[in-house]
Order: sequence, then C-alpha cells, then structure tokens
Amino acid sequence: MCRVTSTTADRPRARLPGRPDTAKHRRPGSPAPPDQASQKETAIFTRTTPPPLPELTKLAQDGTLPGILRQLSGLGGCTTPIRLDGHRTEYDIDTGTGEIGRVLHHLDSADLPAGQLLVRCNNRRTTRCAACAEVYRRDTFQLITSGLRGGKGVPERVGTHPRVFATLTAPSFGPVHNRPSGPAGTVRPCRCGVRHDQEDAVLGTPLDPDTYDYDAAVLWNAHAGPLWQRFSIYLRREVAKRAGLSQRLFRQHARVSFAKVAEYQKRGAVHFHAVIRLDGPTGGDTPPPPWATAELLTDAIGAAAAKVRVDGPVIDGRAHTFTFGRQLDVRTIRSADFNDGQEVTERAVA
Ligand SMILES: [Zn+2]
Ligand SMILES: [Zn+2]
Repeated sequence: MCRVTSTTADRPRARLPGRPDTAKHRRPGSPAPPDQASQKETAIFTRTTPPPLPELTKLAQDGTLPGILRQLSGLGGCTTPIRLDGHRTEYDIDTGTGEIGRVLHHLDSADLPAGQLLVRCNNRRTTRCAACAEVYRRDTFQLITSGLRGGKGVPERVGTHPRVFATLTAPSFGPVHNRPSGPAGTVRPCRCGVRHDQEDAVLGTPLDPDTYDYDAAVLWNAHAGPLWQRFSIYLRREVAKRAGLSQRLFRQHARVSFAKVAEYQKRGAVHFHAVIRLDGPTGGDTPPPPWATAELLTDAIGAAAAKVRVDGPVIDGRAHTFTFGRQLDVRTIRSADFNDGQEVTERAVA
C-alpha cells in the first residue's frame, strides 16, 4: 500500500511558553508586604520557594499526565522543542491510477495531550540543546563509518571497495591567529608572537581585521554547497577520463559514492570531510571494475578540486569566484585501518 500525506503547520512557535512567574522572590531582609508581615514575623526572613508547577498539578488531576509523558519521551531529551499547530492526513493511494482513496490516518495537533505537536529542535550546538547536539554527533559518526565498513543499510562488502577520506577546505582570506604544531606535540608561537592556549578566543580571528577579506569569507560559505555539488560532477568526469571511458559509458561500469559532512573551522569557514568510494554500476552492492583503485581516485580528486569554480555575485565592481583552498587532504582508507588487518565483520564492530 502506498500513502500520500498532507501536512499543514499553521503557527510554528519557536519555543515553549515559559512557566508563568507567579512566585515572588524576596531578598532576605527586604520588607514583606503589609498583609503577610502582620501574619507572621519570621516570614520576612524566609525565602519564598516557588509553588509546585501549577500545570503539573492540573495535568495530574485531569489524568492527561501519562499522555504528556508519552509525547515528551518521543523528544529524546530535547529541551527546546518546537511547538506546531496543524493537522496531517494520510490517504490511501492507488499507484495504478494515482487516485486518492480513503483516509488512513488523521492527526490534529489540538487533540494531542500537550495540545500541540512537539518536534525535536535538532540543534547541533551543545549550548542550545545538549540532547539534540549529541544525537547529531552520533548520527554523523554512523554515517561516515558505515560508508567505510558497511552497516546501517550499506553492504558489508564495501569494505573492499577503493575508498578515501578527503578534506576540502576554503582558500585563505587572510592570516588568522593559530596554534601551529611543532615536533612531538609541541606548540609553536602564532605569527603574532603569542603561543596561544587551546581555548584562546582569539584563535581563528584575523591577524589584521583591516585587510582580512570578510566579504569573500562570508560569500564563500554561501557558495560552499554549489561548489561541492560541482566538485562531485567534476570528480565523476575525472575518474571516467582516467578509466578511458565516456561519461555515458562510465555509468555502466562504476559509480562514485559520497558521504560528506560540512563543518565550521575555527576561522568560521566551512570545510568538508568526505568518504569517497568507487563502487560498481549500481553502488555499494556491486563490485568495482578492476581499474578502480584508491590511487586513481586520489588523483582524480586532486584534479577535480583544483578545477572546480563557482561564479558569485559582482559586489562594488568586484566579481567574486569561489574555489577550494590548496589545502587538500586525501587519505586512502584500508580495511586494515579499522580492524588490525582482520576481515571487517559486523561482529567485530558491534
Ligand atoms: Zn533539542
Ligand atoms: Zn596569534
């Protein structure tokens, strides 16, 4: 059976409404309101504790608490859920005719225990929501590592496909404060002369704000997505060229598979980490052709990264174009990197 879904969200609210601040805090020693002072003298020095959540008492009385708890447990600990008003209807659909049939399921946010649909905020920053940031961190790990060793829907045999871990960065927009590493884990002084601490807030900030190319830095981030997209197209071309195949023929022989994450560097520029793999024509489930090697892939990545450029806007008579930085790091991943040379199995990583 196939389903078609219609969803509307009328009024997304950014945050949960705060608990009404009915508790009046008084500093010890401050005069009590006249009516209380007359009741009991000691009250002047007693810090008023906030009353128990009035909503909680009401919910317990209504018997809606179990429902609310069930709804909250689906948030996985998210502390700043997004509240949505709206409704969603699932219909049966005949895939032969495309005709929409009877209603399968209807959900109205007003009928939910909390009176609204609660959705995880999915913020990646720990300071905003520790629970959601942690989920993102683990998802990223699973995504990247499954591309390496199989698992999570990726066939086990991809562990034998040629694959590399590539890091593509933005070009320089001007020198920034950094922590250059010296021999044996030592830290050398920055160009400003200071040996910066790891937590130094100045790290990644321009050495000379007057000459730093802020315009280009900001615009580069805005064009990083298209730049990556074009890079992936160029890479297929470069791989095909090295295999002596036309674009069209290439698709019948092999496929270039990607798993990438975009991260912010200290200097605020986006950079990409990616596992890039050569597969057979249908992907991870088909063996790659004999010519497919990690060396060929590495060579093709270098060529594609050097060639790719995206035209940006013309601002104040300056035409911006965006390229990757020269700092390209490509490392071959071998099965041995993951399991001391043994065959990688699901059991070994479980
Ligand atoms: Zn959250
Ligand atoms: Zn410095």
